[in-house]
Amino acid sequence: MNRKYLFVDGEVITVNALDEITEAVAVQGRHIIATGSTEEILKLQDEDSEIINLNGRTLLPGLIDSHLHITMYGTNELSISCKDESVKSIDNLLQQLKERVSQTPAGEWVRAWGYHDQKIADRRFPTKEELDSVSTEHPIIVVRACGHISAVNSYALNIASIDNQTPDPEGGKIERNESGEATGLLIENAHMKMFQIAAFTADEITKAHAVASEHFLKAGITSVHDATGYGPSNMRALQQDTLNGTIKQRVYAMAGALNESEVVVKAFLASGVVTGLGNERFKLGPVKVFLDGSSSGPTIWTREPYTSNPSDHGVHYFEQEQLEELFIPAHEQGWQITSHAQGDAAIDMLLTCIEKANEKFPRVDARHRIEHAGIASPDLIERMKKQGVIPTPNPAFLFEYGDGYVENYGKRAEQMYPLASYLEAGVKAAIASDCPVTDFNPMRGIHSAVTRVSQAGQVIGEDKTVSLIEAIRMYTLNGAYASFSEKETGSLEPGKLADLIILDRSLLTAKTNEIPSIKVEFTMIDGEVVHELVSEKIHV
Ligand SMILES: [Zn+2]
Repeated sequence: MNRKYLFVDGEVITVNALDEITEAVAVQGRHIIATGSTEEILKLQDEDSEIINLNGRTLLPGLIDSHLHITMYGTNELSISCKDESVKSIDNLLQQLKERVSQTPAGEWVRAWGYHDQKIADRRFPTKEELDSVSTEHPIIVVRACGHISAVNSYALNIASIDNQTPDPEGGKIERNESGEATGLLIENAHMKMFQIAAFTADEITKAHAVASEHFLKAGITSVHDATGYGPSNMRALQQDTLNGTIKQRVYAMAGALNESEVVVKAFLASGVVTGLGNERFKLGPVKVFLDGSSSGPTIWTREPYTSNPSDHGVHYFEQEQLEELFIPAHEQGWQITSHAQGDAAIDMLLTCIEKANEKFPRVDARHRIEHAGIASPDLIERMKKQGVIPTPNPAFLFEYGDGYVENYGKRAEQMYPLASYLEAGVKAAIASDCPVTDFNPMRGIHSAVTRVSQAGQVIGEDKTVSLIEAIRMYTLNGAYASFSEKETGSLEPGKLADLIILDRSLLTAKTNEIPSIKVEFTMIDGEVVHELVSEKIHV
């Protein structure tokens, strides 16, 4: 068990206090024991040592994604994504559903999500008959992108006991044809009821976790901060699946939920536990609620109206007092607190709450966070610094949604996810993908951090870019800091846990436009090899 790995002749980005780049690193058992020159590290060789020649490739600390949704990503992967390029027509969708049916035992759900009847060539929903042609032995549900409407087959209607006599539920509608027969289209509460029936089973959730974890390992992600899932039982599933090894990453789990987060947060507050419970594999994170909407919607809550619509400030889900009633006692009890806050008005609200909490109940090192912190104006950054707050920006949003930001928020887009401003102010920002909202590939995030280029090719706020080394620190050590784990992970230093990755080339000499296509060849967590490209097997 005390096997040694000596990685030599590479470009080792240590992320230590001096930002040292060395040639080599030594791992023994679960820990890093040394970094240095190849010559120095080779002196540690004994009969238990395996020498891995990096041939100039980059080795760096395992990447930490400080905000993503494991369960949602995994369950999406188990379903058909209608947002995928390959789904352009109802025929395409039926074809993919058929394929999925052929791999699914009879009686189990086959699901598709992200359907947009206006964007699909046929400009309508699939009919019950079309879905029946795919299978009469599996329930099938196709959920619209908005999450309020679905199309289902006869099997699903049977399970839900919906027939010609079933009345519309309150606040919902079961669509019918001229002869009164249900067409399979369910609206609002009729959909919600079906969606509950089609909920993922515990086994499916575990399967989803396994798929997600594997995908993240291949991308070099060794720790994740899970930003909540389907409900209160999600935490239990995450904990079990991390401790039993289904999820290989270290997990820092936020307490909350995608829907009705306030109810779930209250239950956690009443339970008596606080942030930090757990170990280096699985740790309880902050309590989290949603303060405003989505940056791409656009529904974020802004101080000034949208550039694209002078009568729109977006939406907010809390009043100042209501947030303080929830979070000030949480702060007092010892919780780290955080919220989804994208617009400057939402960030302002959370900071005001944090300022009051710290003033009323001073705490050393509370490390409160702000998820996303989209429009982070200079005055807000100043207040983050004063309160020791950690924002978790999403530079890759600039790539995927940046053109829309410029349209909707105008000049303010240049102030979104301003990594350079955080550096200047001495605010420790931890980069996150918010997968499945964007691609989890950290190379995409790093590329966005150093370029701020949108999909259409515009650079949004060039003076807010950071260097490669600075971006890597925000993807590693700062993420560890945001989860109170910087003593164990986040950099390559003697005594730290051996979480590290090897890239397929030298990152520091790669051309900037190559970065998104860089592959991770090797991932190690806790001294254990958890991913290795077979074709590139390094240590044979
Ligand atoms: Zn999120």
